[in-house]
Amino acid sequence: MKHTDLIIIGGGPIGIACGLAAKKKGIDYLIIEKGPIVNSLFNYPINMQFFSSSEKLEIDDIPFISKEAKPKRNEALEYYRRIVTSNNLNITLFEKVNTVKKENGLFKIETEKQHYTASFVIVATGFYDIPNTMNVPGEDLPKVSHYYKDPHFYAKQKLAVVGASNSAVDAALECYRKGADVTMIVRGHEIGKRVKYWVRPDIMNRIKEESIKAHYNATVKEIFEDKISITTPNGDIDIENDYVLALTGYKPNFEFLKKIGITLSDDEKLYPEYNEETMESNVENLYLAGVICGGMDTHVWYIENSRIHATAILNSITEKQFAQTKS
Ligand code: FAD
Repeated sequence: MKHTDLIIIGGGPIGIACGLAAKKKGIDYLIIEKGPIVNSLFNYPINMQFFSSSEKLEIDDIPFISKEAKPKRNEALEYYRRIVTSNNLNITLFEKVNTVKKENGLFKIETEKQHYTASFVIVATGFYDIPNTMNVPGEDLPKVSHYYKDPHFYAKQKLAVVGASNSAVDAALECYRKGADVTMIVRGHEIGKRVKYWVRPDIMNRIKEESIKAHYNATVKEIFEDKISITTPNGDIDIENDYVLALTGYKPNFEFLKKIGITLSDDEKLYPEYNEETMESNVENLYLAGVICGGMDTHVWYIENSRIHATAILNSITEKQFAQTKS
């Protein structure tokens, strides 16, 4: 069994920021990532453009040069990959962490491939693995996806896009422009207020001119092979349909958090318990970083504002190590 002082679970932007901060502090660390480097970003839509400007996505002040002010997914992949490779970060890829148990003050980490022990653990597992489901009949049909990748696939298809956030709006516009017949199903009474300010007028105008159809205050009732049934203020409607993109958001793996002993708030937000200054959770020496800190409020923490978690955590760990050497 290998021992490492610090194990960081998740090689997303924030896990990488933690690894870099650990390296700078001279701490023995390992990042364990279940997919490729920045797996979530790798799985984002191929043409995705960030709402943040590139300098706000920088970690450790390493310049992020992008062609436009707001970088694209492929530029971000390039940026974070180069940080990992040029700093020779200690990361193992395609290795999923299954469990973390604390025994006699030491963490035992079991992955798909091996066992490790660690004195400190940072959980930075993000939120992109588990979609918020609609829980309607037909949601498990192969024509339904909670992830959108490439508009080409939907050309000349009748596509229903469920949701009205950035992801849903980007997908609706791109697919419409590649020849899909797009209908948006929006739970609220308007397109999301947080939609990128330069994209929102575009979708509003496409809806107004009816190039993209939209049903507001509407929910999906049932999905069939050849149609989708929705509930609207004017009653139920059946719409002919080939594919459904249910872009209704994602959530952290709460079961994993609970299993490792993290206390979650007992409301529907499921906020994990942690110290806001150090990011240490209710489990001593186990820290939380990145988007998971917001529980179901996955828009609260993002790369821009959670980059700082790395410094807070590594300061806390080095203080504890210093205190241990003195005692
Ligand atoms: P993630 O990037 O999700 O990384 C978590 C990592 O943990 C993943 O690589 C995952 O594979 C790994 N992992 C999960 N479970 C395990 C396990 N059991 N074992 C090992 N590894 C595991 N934020 C911004 O600041 N600006 C933007 O412009 C922006 N645009 C966005 C656009 C889209 C379409 C989306 C979906 C999000 C956007 N965000 C943006 C949000 C941002 O991408 C996330 O907040 C960010 O990725 C969080 O980083 P993270 O490291 O906490 O989590």
